[in-house]
Amino acid sequence: MSLVVMKFGGTSVEDAAAIARTAAIVAGRVAAGKRPVVVVSAMSKVTDQLLACAAAASRGDRTGALAISQRLRSRHRDTAAALIKDAKNCGAIQTAIEQEFETLDEVLRGLAAILELTPRISDLIVSYGERLSSVMIAEAFKERGINSVHIDAREIILTDSQYQKAIPQDDLIEERCTRLVLPLLDAGQVPVMGGFIGSNEAGITTTLGRGGSDFTGALIGGALHADAIEIWTDVNGIMTTDPRICPDALRVKEISFEEAAELAYFGAKVLHPATILPAVRKNIPVLVLNSKNPSNDGTRIISLAPHCRSPFKCIALKRKLTIIDVVASRMLMTHGYLKTVFDIFDKHQCPVDMVSTSEVSVSVTVDSTDKLPAIAADLSRIADVKYEGCKALICMVGEDIRGQRGISAQVFAAIKHVNVRMISQGASEINMSFMIEEEDAEEAVRSLHAYFFKDPDPAIFDVEGRNTLVTPQ
Ligand code: ASP
Ligand code: MG
Repeated sequence: MSLVVMKFGGTSVEDAAAIARTAAIVAGRVAAGKRPVVVVSAMSKVTDQLLACAAAASRGDRTGALAISQRLRSRHRDTAAALIKDAKNCGAIQTAIEQEFETLDEVLRGLAAILELTPRISDLIVSYGERLSSVMIAEAFKERGINSVHIDAREIILTDSQYQKAIPQDDLIEERCTRLVLPLLDAGQVPVMGGFIGSNEAGITTTLGRGGSDFTGALIGGALHADAIEIWTDVNGIMTTDPRICPDALRVKEISFEEAAELAYFGAKVLHPATILPAVRKNIPVLVLNSKNPSNDGTRIISLAPHCRSPFKCIALKRKLTIIDVVASRMLMTHGYLKTVFDIFDKHQCPVDMVSTSEVSVSVTVDSTDKLPAIAADLSRIADVKYEGCKALICMVGEDIRGQRGISAQVFAAIKHVNVRMISQGASEINMSFMIEEEDAEEAVRSLHAYFFKDPDPAIFDVEGRNTLVTPQ
């Protein structure tokens, strides 16, 4: 019987109605003879609210922090009451919720006295989102006839101690999955656990970074050698481009891991980039599906995508970027100069998106502005520095551009009216990216889409479904 990891994001568990839909989807998989392991996010916006709570407490705003916590408590309590009708079970789950909030409030009061929010405490506070959602959902599943059992993800996802971005320890996770999760599956149970959270070797709570529930799903799938990993979200899978910008966007039926990773890196919000890795390594297909439209086939991410008639699969857009031009005549004929430049970005822990160099200049783009003054000050010791915001990056992804002639001419002909600032073709040869003014970005995406998807390959793109899109919120 095939083992499937089903990960449900925040919008798929945002309220009682969404959780009931999710339960029906899981029940459907069980009825179809599959063995699901369910990974859930916190209810939508809860993670942000817990972070707001932590920030308020660390400023000494005890009342503000406890008020947010109180609202979260009511939301969970009301959702549980709406979902679980059996009085005894509902009572038990309400007690569990109350206990979690009592301990959370203790932490918040302590924080409001100490006034220092460490990454470790932040992880502890934010972990409540997934802890609460998973307990409640496991119970709601039971009431709907699913033989579910809650597992504390912190017992399974073992990580190092880099709080807020902990690195999972694959061997330990595999051992825990084999020892603690497999026997439940063998006994016909459906394990339900929170995503995003883990613990280090001392048993202290850690998190995998924002959006980390997808990562949990892939880790569990990898460790259990699952047959598939399903990422349930609120869009119909990966689209050729953002349908809010371009209403003609099409669902991509199949895409390669490499293409999906490229897209994720360039800001397509559907998947966490790291999700891809544990699945790729074990060659497990990842499906992106819509819990508000479960009959839709979504997007299947597989190791080798079949040939596609169109050169590109997707057009991604990343906005709010800044371009930094570093110009130094000293760079002429010297070596080690780029290293010096990148050492400065490294020192400020600032990731660089795109790089382009000429003999005496290097231009890079970054997406965070808070460190820019400090970076520019350091760079100005070795070169002339200019930076300019309000730029956008358009990234065109497709395996079929490899080795094809004339593609760049077509791309730039399609947007010949737009001023292009920087161009790069990735080493993987499956993406072409260029930087333009943010104000030109949407129109450029529409022009490119109109040109490259005028005759979409029906084997790869959902041409029939074009007019039945569910617009993402
Ligand atoms: N709840 C976490 C977040 O919002 C993790 C996730 O949902 O993937 O970042
Ligand atoms: Mg997510």
